[in-house]
Amino acid sequence: MLVWQQNASLKSFNTFGMEVKADWLVLIQDSSDLHELIRDERWQKMPRIILGGGSNVLFTQDFVGVVAILQTKGIAVLEENDEEVLVEVESGEIWHEWVMHCIEKGWGGLENLSLIPGSVGASPMQNIGAYGVEIKDVFVSLNAMHVVTGVECVFTHEQCAFGYRESVFKRAEKDRWIIKSVVFKLSKNPILKMEYGDIQKRLAERNIVHPGIADISEAVCTIRQSKLPDPKVLGNAGSFFKNPVIQKVLYQNLLSQYPTMPHYPVNAEYVKVPAGWLIEQAGWKGKKWETCAVHDRQALVLVNHAHAKGNEIWDLSSAIVADILEKFQIELEREVNVY
Ligand code: FAD
Ligand code: NAP
Repeated sequence: MLVWQQNASLKSFNTFGMEVKADWLVLIQDSSDLHELIRDERWQKMPRIILGGGSNVLFTQDFVGVVAILQTKGIAVLEENDEEVLVEVESGEIWHEWVMHCIEKGWGGLENLSLIPGSVGASPMQNIGAYGVEIKDVFVSLNAMHVVTGVECVFTHEQCAFGYRESVFKRAEKDRWIIKSVVFKLSKNPILKMEYGDIQKRLAERNIVHPGIADISEAVCTIRQSKLPDPKVLGNAGSFFKNPVIQKVLYQNLLSQYPTMPHYPVNAEYVKVPAGWLIEQAGWKGKKWETCAVHDRQALVLVNHAHAKGNEIWDLSSAIVADILEKFQIELEREVNVY
């Protein structure tokens, strides 16, 4: 039987640490609870949100509705041979613990995605990515339940329409599905991805010549810990903005003004520019804004310094968007889900 908490604090359920309340809060620890949730009048009639770890959300006000936190657990091997393993993981599993489970078992594919906060169920939402890997690279399918009818459905890789920090669940199917579990295909003989960032530098520091997946994971964790604020210490939701993908023509024009502007090719027509670089160039890195700030080691991350309100973070992000548009003619898009 589900326990419904009225007028509940969401402070410990969002990594920005926003002190906001929800009319109703309910913790889902067993996937059979979902049927009870969906039949409930409060869920049917009021605005609703599903949350995992709350590491990609910004609450700008109290939530007038129901917040359901998915905490379902379970990891099941569906198929296995000498080369690959197909595993179904319940949505409430903690992402980094799942990655560590893979490392322990010798299943390769997710090591570059070590230390990303949040839950397994949220990982397809924005096709989480880091250090040259995205979950689409190992994703097979997911099981979801319709938020109103309770009908269950399998979404294939193609149906998820993954893109750069994108999926169908942020677009056409937004707010329609509870992702219950995700199926991954992992490799027992993985091809390691080490070209990105400082991974090779970290391996060299440790004199590792023939790295394995545990070494890549260690390198990624060490680099991340050196650059990113720990939400338990300083409230944040990771990168606040996506890296903009712009037309090459615009990039070429900007290059004459900013010759050191980094870029990564996307296709013949477009290039990706690091949003962190743009924000830093515009002078925002480390800037304090009332109770919040732009992080001093990573300009893409906005932090809650002391009891910031969600709308202060929103206002800071709006000031950055306006300034970057004026200086670079590039409109930054927020990655964080704002409520
Ligand atoms: P939540 O914040 O709880 O939810 C995010 C969105 O997904 C919400 O809209 C929510 O309604 C929806 N949702 C969540 N669970 C479900 C479900 N089961 N079914 C349906 N909808 C659901 N992201 C990256 O891609 N790469 C990174 O390297 C990265 N690094 C980060 C570093 C830090 C320090 C922080 C704080 C965040 C980082 N993030 C990164 C962002 C974030 O961790 C990921 O997006 C993560 O997948 C969010 O998981 P969550 O469970 O916390 O989702
Ligand atoms: P970084 O290494 O300083 O690089 C800055 C940006 O340049 C990154 O965002 C990355 O884009 C891009 N980039 C760098 N090398 C690249 C390459 N070889 N090919 C293509 N693009 C490249 O980045 P960082 O801030 O320390 O983050 C490292 C990784 O962790 C990145 O992948 C980043 O996305 C991820 N991360 C994500 C979040 C989040 O909340 N979404 C938070 C922290 C870190 P991509 O972002 O497209 O990779």
